[in-house]
Amino acid sequence: MGDGQHCPACGRDIGVWPVFTAGLPNRVRCPHCSARLGYHDIGWVVVVLLLVLAGVLVGAYYAVGLIPG
Ligand SMILES: [Zn+2]
Repeated sequence: MGDGQHCPACGRDIGVWPVFTAGLPNRVRCPHCSARLGYHDIGWVVVVLLLVLAGVLVGAYYAVGLIPG
């Protein structure tokens, strides 16, 4: 395993939620077997979160621009 989407210990899908609850990427644990997941194991999640954050910021920018005053 270790493909970035599945736990390298139990092989089950990690999901995104553990990353939100962990706070820091290097503190993420598998929700199934509680194995500690390294930063490189969830690199894809970090990328996705950054893209989502960027999208929210851009969306907020345009939303504010559409509201007069
Ligand atoms: Zn696991």
